[in-house]
Amino acid sequence: PESAEEGTRGFLPCFRHFATQAIHVGQEPEQWSSMAVVPPISLSTTFKQQAPGQHSGFEYSRSGNPTRNCLEKAVAALDGAKYSLAYASGLAATVNIAHLLKAGDTIICMDDVYGGTNRYFQRIATEMGLKVIFVDCTKLECLAAAITPETKLVWIETPTNPNLKVIDIQGCADIVHKRKDLFLAVDNTFMSAYFQRPLALGADICMYSATKYMNGHSDVVMGLISVNCDNLYERLKFLQNALGAVPSPFDCYLCNRGLKTLPIRMKQHFHNALAVARYLESDPRVEKVIFPGLPSHPQHELMKRQCTGCPGMVTFYIKGNAEHAVTFLKALKLFALAESLGGYESLAEHPAIMTHSSVPKEDRDVLGISDTLIRMSIGLEDIEDLLEDLDQALKAAVIRIRQNSRRERERD
Ligand SMILES: *Cc1c(COP(=O)(O)O)cnc(C)c1O
Repeated sequence: PESAEEGTRGFLPCFRHFATQAIHVGQEPEQWSSMAVVPPISLSTTFKQQAPGQHSGFEYSRSGNPTRNCLEKAVAALDGAKYSLAYASGLAATVNIAHLLKAGDTIICMDDVYGGTNRYFQRIATEMGLKVIFVDCTKLECLAAAITPETKLVWIETPTNPNLKVIDIQGCADIVHKRKDLFLAVDNTFMSAYFQRPLALGADICMYSATKYMNGHSDVVMGLISVNCDNLYERLKFLQNALGAVPSPFDCYLCNRGLKTLPIRMKQHFHNALAVARYLESDPRVEKVIFPGLPSHPQHELMKRQCTGCPGMVTFYIKGNAEHAVTFLKALKLFALAESLGGYESLAEHPAIMTHSSVPKEDRDVLGISDTLIRMSIGLEDIEDLLEDLDQALKAAVIRIRQNSRRERERD
């Protein structure tokens, strides 16, 4: 078999100066009279003016905050963007983007998106007069056919959750930009800025739930948006203040700090996830593994064309039935049975019962979210320990099922 190093080759080269920018952009000590090397947490809600209307760049902390400023500058650099804006959550960022539209406009949304995005579009945006249609954007011809004069926003997420389907960002952008007043937004949460730059591939808006990899320490809920277009930025900046869903200075401090290790975290997530995916793929107790970094993934080549690597998300179908899956999850010791993803700690969950339970059963069947599907967020622990935990939990699932069938036979 290929070595670990070989398995991570063949992707786009890493973005130049990424680690240096993560550490230095927006963090210049000269911006503070104290020359602090680490940006202070600026808690003041208001800022003194020299004369009415004459201020130092800050007036009121919702409109602009020094700690938030440092974070926004760093994120813009990491996305290769001109501008970045921070929000109180990923969903708050999504709501701000939807407010670029007006009643009567249509959103085309990838049919397989984060549950909260789906809920907001279907149950709230539509009540406010927006029309939302769901399209399988992995098929570019379906996207092209769905666009009407009312379409104002195309929303995609790649890879999707939990089935890790990959969408051709450049292909979508080419279709979207045949029209001038239509823009493409990419939810880049699963990839982080380190592995994928949607703006460079032609997207107009790059959005994150920074709650996941960008912060990476499972201790902040936050959203981010990056754009290059001046006009789009001015409108989003206005909305950030006018809608008011801004993050706290403390959360900005934490996320800014999390970014400093983004490159080394993502490399290790990739390394560990590839090892887990290979291990599971060779295990007879496993039905099928989905990981875009494996040659067995149907869009592995597309992934290598548009990304610099793969994050720690590994999905697999365990052999057997729902009971196997539940027994496996309960037997895990190191992996926490929990929702969310992208932190330093390994997590495992059952999408059909947990993250995707609000998706109707018929839709789950279409999307392949069966009772034997397990989603894992591979963390930064020692790989030997992770593999040992997976092995003992797979054993426990098999033993449990054997005991059950023996008991049934004895009863008969
Ligand atoms: C978690 C998540 C969101 C929502 O972000 P919050 O920070 O929880 O509001 C959006 N998109 C994806 C892909 C996510 O995983």
